[in-house]
This record gives sequence, C-alpha cells and structure tokens, in this order.
Amino acid sequence: MSGKACVIGAGPNGLAAAIVLAQAGMPVDVLEAESTPGGAARTLELTLPGFRHDFGSAVYPMGAGSPFFSSLPLINHGLEWIHSPAALAHPLDDGTAVLLERDLDKTKHSLGIDGPAWDKLMRPFVERWTKFAPQILRPVSFVPRHPWLMARFGMVGLQSAQAVARRFRDQRTRALFAGFAAHSFLSFDEPLSAAFAVLMAVPAHAVGWPIPRGGAQSITNALCSFLSTFGGKVCTSSPVDDLAALPNYDLFLCDLTPRQLVKVGAPRLSESYKRQLGRYRYGAAAFKVDYALNAPIPWKARECLQAASVHLGGSFEEIAASEKAVRNGQHADRPFVLLAQPSLFDRLRAPAGKHTAWAYCHVPNGSKVDMLERLEDQIERFAPGFRDCILARRVFSPADLESMDANLVGGDIGGGVMDIRQFLFRPTWRHYATSAPDIYICSSSAPPGGGVHGMCGYHAAKMALSRLDKRYRKA
Ligand SMILES: Cc1cc2nc3c(=O)[nH]c(=O)nc-3n(C[C@H](O)[C@H](O)[C@H](O)COP(=O)(O)OP(=O)(O)OC[C@H]3O[C@@H](n4cnc5c(N)ncnc54)[C@H](O)[C@@H]3O)c2cc1C
Repeated sequence: MSGKACVIGAGPNGLAAAIVLAQAGMPVDVLEAESTPGGAARTLELTLPGFRHDFGSAVYPMGAGSPFFSSLPLINHGLEWIHSPAALAHPLDDGTAVLLERDLDKTKHSLGIDGPAWDKLMRPFVERWTKFAPQILRPVSFVPRHPWLMARFGMVGLQSAQAVARRFRDQRTRALFAGFAAHSFLSFDEPLSAAFAVLMAVPAHAVGWPIPRGGAQSITNALCSFLSTFGGKVCTSSPVDDLAALPNYDLFLCDLTPRQLVKVGAPRLSESYKRQLGRYRYGAAAFKVDYALNAPIPWKARECLQAASVHLGGSFEEIAASEKAVRNGQHADRPFVLLAQPSLFDRLRAPAGKHTAWAYCHVPNGSKVDMLERLEDQIERFAPGFRDCILARRVFSPADLESMDANLVGGDIGGGVMDIRQFLFRPTWRHYATSAPDIYICSSSAPPGGGVHGMCGYHAAKMALSRLDKRYRKA
C-alpha cells in the first residue's frame, strides 16, 4: 500500500486503526496529545508512590472478547489477563452478595428460581460468542451474517431493561441485571437499555470480566509494541490542532470525537457534514475517585472479595431511579457506583499489604457537583469502615477527566449518547467516513461505541483501506 497515514490520538481505537494500516503495509505515525499513550486505557501513579491506578477503563469483557484484539499476539507483547474467581459481585443490604460466576451452569444453579430464565436469556449468545461478537461490535447491519442469532438479540435488546427484568422473580437477580443495564447510561424504561445488560452479562460468561496484569497500560503498551514491529511510530506530547499543518500524509484516521474533528479538520470538511457533526449529542459523565488503601475493602458480604468488579446500588428499583435521575440531568442521592479492586488479584498495583480501588458514579454531562460524599456513603453502606482504610484519594470531576483526555467531552466516557439514533447513525449515516475522502473518524464516537475493544479503529481502517484500494485501481 503506497502513501503515508497519520492517526491522531493513541487511545485503544487509534492504536487499533494504526495496526490495521501497518499490517496492510502502510507507513503510520500516531500523534498523541498526552505524554503517555493510551487515552482512557492508561495506568498512572495518581495518589501515592507505588500505587498504580487506572485513569480510565479498568475491567475488560470487551477487550478480552474483541475479535480484533484476539487476532493479535498481544500475549507476546506483555498482555496477561487476570480472572478473579467470580466475574462480579453485587452486595445487598441484608449483608449478602449476588456473585456472577463465569460458568453459566454454576450461575444457573446459584440464581435459584431465576436460574432457568437467566440461562435462557444468555446461553444462545454465550455459546455462539465467536459468531456473536463480530456482529455486535460493528455498525448495525440489516443483513447480518447470522440472521437468527441477531434477530433473537434484537428482540431482547430493543426492549427496555425494565421490560426484560420482568422475566426474573427474585429481587437478587433483578438487582444483578440492573447493574449491567446501568452501563447503558440510559433510563431503564428506554429501548436499548436491555441490550447493554445482555452485552455486559454475556461476555462475563463467554470470556470473563478480566483485568490486565499491571493495569490498563499493559493493553496500550502491548498494542504499541506490536505496532512497532511493523515500523509504526507513536509520538507523544504531540497535540494536533489543524490537519493542514500535517502536509506529509495521504490519509488521516482521527481517534477524536465529533467536536474535535470539526476543530482540527474544519477547512477540509463540507458545511453540511459539519452541521451533522454539530448535532451529535454527548452523554452523561463519570465522577471518579481513585483510592490508595491500607487494607482490602471491609465488605459486609465477604464474598465480594472474590470479584475484581463490584456493583453498588442495592435493588433494581434503586439503581433504576439513580440512572433515571442522571438521564434527566439530575444527581442521584444514592448513586449507582461501579467499583474495581484490582490489587486483590494483581500485586503490581500497590506496595505489599496495601491496596487500590477505582470507583465512579454517573452524573450529568459537565456536572460540577461534588459527589464524593454520596459515592463514599454508597461504599460504606456495603463496607462499613471503608473510610478508615483510605490512605489517599484522587477525585476526578468530569472536567478533570477531560483535562487528561480531550475525548472525554464534559466527562462523557462513552464517546456520545448511545440511544437508538446514535446507535444507528454514529456519528452520522457515513459512520467512519467523512465528507473528505482522506479523513476518517475512528474513535468510540463511531460504531460500535464505547469500551476498550479497538473495533471502531479496526473498522474505520478497513473502510479507509478498501476505499484507497478502489481509488488506486481506478487511477
Ligand atoms: C473513567 C472511565 C472508566 C471506564 N471504564 C471502562 C471499563 O472498565 N472497560 C471498558 O472497556 N471501557 C471503559 N471505559 C471506556 C473506554 O475507556 C473508552 O471507550 C475507550 O478508551 C475509547 O477509546 P478511544 O481510542 O476511542 O478514545 P480514548 O481512549 O479517549 O483515546 C483518545 C486519545 O486521543 C488523544 N487526543 C485527543 N485529542 C487529540 C488531539 N487533538 N491531538 C492528539 N491526540 C489527541 C487523547 O489524548 C487520547 O489519548 C471507561 C472510560 C473512563 C473514562
């Protein structure tokens, strides 16, 4: 492939795009604004020396299940997945916790009365994960490769979480399902909220909810190292303000969100395309806290110590109320909290005998409200004495997140709302293509959206290559 490519942004999608281009024989430079590559997949000493925290993402069902990442020899480049004994724990007020086992048969058994309903909902997709994953991690296709499987998924996924949760009779199962649905950032009465619940739970059984040894940075470092075997270069501390200042490239893949794409590419993009990008909607934000701890979290339900991920919010109804408030631009009094405790399973995260924790709750985009007390009250509710374990904490408001990764616009961690419209037309009907033939968008603002899976970058680069190929054949 002749010509030279520039990828702007070294997040997981930018690096995935660069690898696809490099594999096709194209020289590639990746220009990254920050001093460390990885975007929302970085690990940094955010509190005290020796405590290594994931700045953004921390747990990787979609990373481990990504068809593209799975095709790369990332293990040879230092990536090692760690699976905690249980994929996830969901503590309740009675001092017990629901544990999601990776083994679907064990989960069916442990969920008791709801076991058969859980099994019926998840098994078709769990057993066909290698067929299912490539279909869901791409733009929507109205002629899918596995029509029956995708029709089955569509029938569930297009419903609201509230409707699908009616299949479960036990409050414990409903609470577990709610925790997964909350990853949608949607209200539980909205269509598609059930799709997220299924898309979070299915990989838990199919590939697990692993963490990388050493943290998110290990994924990024493995991608950078693999890219370098093809001669691809990542230049850090290299923010791009204007594509016109980069005359030596024939192709641009932008790991940017629509607002930034307009900024860097303005003179090259058509007015109507810029108007379409201007209508793109960003989603709710995260309010995040990283902790250095002097002990493991003192969970009332000791079984929570078996899972790297913990969902805190109590019942289905309570989590639904928390997510509805955020969708309506409000702040929940008892916010749903997503928590990871990686140092229990990975000694590289903290000095001997010490621990780290990562927690966030959802807040409206650009929120300036301090949620620290409410977030810690939720942890204390299920782990009394938690505050006494804190050696240091680092709080990230939505603006703080954006200041360390410009793609986190207003603190939105998903690259834009994922409602029906932006599910179908993300960021526009052109998906990765723009109005300029040599500029593509490859971030999570393109299909399939947020998460560390690299599939936005993969598909964007494949589209760019196939169009380049056609142009060369015509010429
Ligand atoms: C707090 C938080 C928790 C999350 N939890 C999880 C999780 O547990 N599991 C999961 O799978 N996903 C999670 N995510 C989501 C996931 O991290 C993102 O969806 C994913 O990183 C998106 O990848 P990306 O490459 O599209 O963008 P990013 O990772 O945001 O990377 C974009 C890169 O572009 C760079 N950039 C921006 N503008 C410019 C410019 N003008 N010039 C040069 N470089 C530029 C940025 O500095 C950044 O490095 C989380 C995200 C956050 C923030």
